[in-house]
Amino acid sequence: MNQDVKEILYDEAALARRVAELGKAISQDYAGKDLLVVGVLKGAVVFFSDLIRAIETPLEMDFIAVSSYGRQTSTTGKVRFIKDLDVSVEGRHVLIVEDILDTGNTLKYLYDVMCSRKPASVKICALLDKPSRRTAEIDADYVGYVIPNAFVVGYGLDYAERYRNLPYIGVLKEEVYQ
Ligand code: 5GP
Repeated sequence: MNQDVKEILYDEAALARRVAELGKAISQDYAGKDLLVVGVLKGAVVFFSDLIRAIETPLEMDFIAVSSYGRQTSTTGKVRFIKDLDVSVEGRHVLIVEDILDTGNTLKYLYDVMCSRKPASVKICALLDKPSRRTAEIDADYVGYVIPNAFVVGYGLDYAERYRNLPYIGVLKEEVYQ
């Protein structure tokens, strides 16, 4: 285990099992529909790449990148587009894939932007959900795990751009970011 990690919450096997379940549910719900899976860079990339391979229905993928001003270990509420989609969402079923739903500011913003572009539908899939931290009115349609209020890293999630390559999700030791 990485020396900065206090505790492993979900190891590789647990993540693989849960991603397979999510993929199955999404495959059933989107059968016969024009599905566009939108990954939110960079944190969702690892989850995204596993998830799309667990979805059996045809899909197209694209990415967006957003940044929140002044973030340390939480967002401040102001969200900024760094990279928009390359394709149009008009008339299509959009599934936004995000690493973690925390205050909800990021996903609320992305959800509203996508909805304004005349899609057939917009849904959210978040690997992790911290409902106790929510300030924005938004929920995910598919959630991997509901977790308590701890700062987690690994499986794409970073602290100061580190730890994204850990194959598990773990709680970062407080002394690393305090
Ligand atoms: P929100 O806008 O919902 O507050 O925050 C969403 C973003 O904050 C996530 O996409 C993620 O980048 C970051 N974030 C929130 N909680 C955590 C956490 O526990 N660990 C890491 N690494 N990032 C987090």
